[in-house]
Amino acid sequence: MKTVDQCDFKDKKALIRVDFNVPLDKDFTITDDKRMRAALPTITKILNDGGSVILMSHLGRPKGGPEEKYSLKHILADLSKMLNVEVQFADDCIGAQATDKAKDLKAGQVLLLENLRFYKEEEKGDKEFAGKLAKLGDVYVNDAFGTAHRAHASTSIIAQFFPAEKYFGYLMAEELKNAEKINNNADKPFTAIMGGAKVSDKILLIESLLEKVDNLIIGGGMAYTFAKAQGGEIGTSLLEADRMELCLELLEKAKAKGVNLLLPVDTVIADKFDNEAEKKNVDAGQIPADWMGLDIGPKSVALFAEVIKNSKTLLWNGPMGVFEMANFEQGTRAIADAVVAGTKENDAFSLIGGGDSAAAIAKFGLEEEVSYVSTGGGALLEYMEGKELPGVKAIND
Ligand code: AMP
Repeated sequence: MKTVDQCDFKDKKALIRVDFNVPLDKDFTITDDKRMRAALPTITKILNDGGSVILMSHLGRPKGGPEEKYSLKHILADLSKMLNVEVQFADDCIGAQATDKAKDLKAGQVLLLENLRFYKEEEKGDKEFAGKLAKLGDVYVNDAFGTAHRAHASTSIIAQFFPAEKYFGYLMAEELKNAEKINNNADKPFTAIMGGAKVSDKILLIESLLEKVDNLIIGGGMAYTFAKAQGGEIGTSLLEADRMELCLELLEKAKAKGVNLLLPVDTVIADKFDNEAEKKNVDAGQIPADWMGLDIGPKSVALFAEVIKNSKTLLWNGPMGVFEMANFEQGTRAIADAVVAGTKENDAFSLIGGGDSAAAIAKFGLEEEVSYVSTGGGALLEYMEGKELPGVKAIND
């Protein structure tokens, strides 16, 4: 793997694609800076070599033009503090100002470019736009695992302008190493824990996991479509009616492959989608009309935890319930505790998929207690599905 370790950056300008797509509150205060902290080792290595750094990222989902709330200037002060360097800012990622500031950059200095997605050319993977960005640096580094599954101008197309001078950053290398460990070298028993809202988002992953895992635990909103498909009553719980047939097929496939597929045996139900709703526990598939399932119940927790604690490899993607509401977080919290216990007491390797599972682990303060928390949601899922990520391919080619 071609990483930044293979390059001496002395007197070189490194153009680094980072993933600084961090959540901001209404006052533009960063509420979770994990993605920024994760990029620091790569930046520091280049600066210590005697190079300079030009950082490019997207933030949020602008509609193809500048939008104040998605300006990367909101993160400038925090970034400067983290790096202990006064980071410069170009208020357009291409054009005269960016070109001049990049040209004047001295060893040890850092320049942050404005949000790449202020140009629709970024997501379109426009070659001309990629070429304009490429002119700013001597070396291209990709350290943005969170967007590695996108063939965007800055994540993939740009690499062709640096045929000999393109490298993975440390974060990318670490993410790929951990994902690979699960994909092809998982110690057994291997248990995948899937949750979240929709079956449809995760079908390909479930199918690919059925080839590899010993146990597949399914919780969260998607479990209700399975319950309904098996003839259960699910009230007003999340349902993807057009996926019921598929759920039955997945159950059959699991049986044929000898995979132990576990579904919740009980569920916490609520009379409305509200933290203050009235709630009670019922067996799976026994939800009264007008009630909805918002978490897995205690019997499911016990069943799942037992399997988790006896596993040697754990992959967790998606919460077991609506963990954002304190009254419906217990199932997700208990599963997080079981993953921690498996990691510590059974020496399991535990990989937490990005997105909502990462948010849940962070909410419970358990990030340091598991083996690895990925910064990539969609990217990790696509990697696990066996797809080649465009951001990875572009460096490897
Ligand atoms: P995903 O992005 O597919 O991983 O889904 C994560 C979201 O699923 C979280 O915001 C959870 O609140 C939500 N979720 C999990 N379980 C349920 C449920 N039983 N009913 C409704 N939403 C759920």
